[in-house]
Amino acid sequence: MGLFDFLKKTTPAETERLDSGLTKSRQGFFTRLGRSIVGKSTVDEEVLDALEDTLLQSDVGVDTTVKIIARIRAHVAQAKYTSTEELGRLLREAIAGLLHENRATYATEKLDQTRPTVAGKPVPYVIMVVGVNGVGKTTTIGKLAHRFTAAGHTVLLGAGDTFRAAAVDQLRIWAERVGAGFATKGMNTDPAAVAYDAVRQGLDQGVDLVIVDTAGRLHNKVPLMNELSKIKRTMEKVVPGAPHEVLLVLDASTGQNALQQAKAFGEATEVTALALTKLDGTAKGGVVLAIADQLKIPVKYIGVGEQLTDLQLFDPDQFVERFFAAEGLDL
Ligand code: GDP
Ligand code: MG
Repeated sequence: MGLFDFLKKTTPAETERLDSGLTKSRQGFFTRLGRSIVGKSTVDEEVLDALEDTLLQSDVGVDTTVKIIARIRAHVAQAKYTSTEELGRLLREAIAGLLHENRATYATEKLDQTRPTVAGKPVPYVIMVVGVNGVGKTTTIGKLAHRFTAAGHTVLLGAGDTFRAAAVDQLRIWAERVGAGFATKGMNTDPAAVAYDAVRQGLDQGVDLVIVDTAGRLHNKVPLMNELSKIKRTMEKVVPGAPHEVLLVLDASTGQNALQQAKAFGEATEVTALALTKLDGTAKGGVVLAIADQLKIPVKYIGVGEQLTDLQLFDPDQFVERFFAAEGLDL
């Protein structure tokens, strides 16, 4: 059985959280679009222009917007008549089709990962979490750890953000709350040494999962970026092949900025998966589509609130369906 299998099942409560989390983005989108095409019954160039503007204002980004519009335009050119009532369905199909082409967005395929082994013996699956300050790294670690411990897996958290005392305490509290082990050397210590210890302890204790937090860093600061490589190399000394995942956390409410951060981090370190936080409370949810379409790194998790249970696996089909569901397109 895959280590991440349990994440694949979506409960009705989760779908509801996703729905409510996407409310602002959805409303922003449909209100803008509705306003700009009011009174129009046919999808013509004017409506396509309005749609393009709306997608751009919803942080879908230029490249992805152009691709979506091209798909809809192609459909309109073929059909004799396309009513604006069909626009919702056309949009959903265009976006879903686009995301399907980029298989990298299908993180679910990577979930079949079983517990890694070294020389035939099971070792912990190690995740290193990176990103800019305040994006939600520590919170995401807490939520992720909760999902794993709730599913019966053993987890150990490593306090690799040694810049601030509060950062160590914040992670300690999460560890206690979710029933995970905790490895720390206190603040102002070498994060690589903490990472080393965390993986070491995880290995000795035979835990399933080790998650290592790191200090927030700006993607344009070279020494800090190099430090990430050092932390990574240290873990590998304990468990060859670790970290098995480098998870970059991005704040969706920063819109296009999140896309830029992903590109910069992706160039500096080997990022293997993305988590997009704070989808709730922002109207910029469209950035998820831009990131899923434009980057080769899969979006694996989305954060839809501040609660313990508000971290979900990103499923592009479900995301598109929920984005365009609820409200419908009664323009
Ligand atoms: P870090 O500096 O990257 O470790 O960020 P933190 O984990 O400390 O989070 C910064 C703030 O973002 C905290 O107030 C979190 O509660 C909040 N946060 C994180 N994820 C989410 C989310 O998905 N939704 C909302 N609304 N807030 C979030
Ligand atoms: Mg933190």
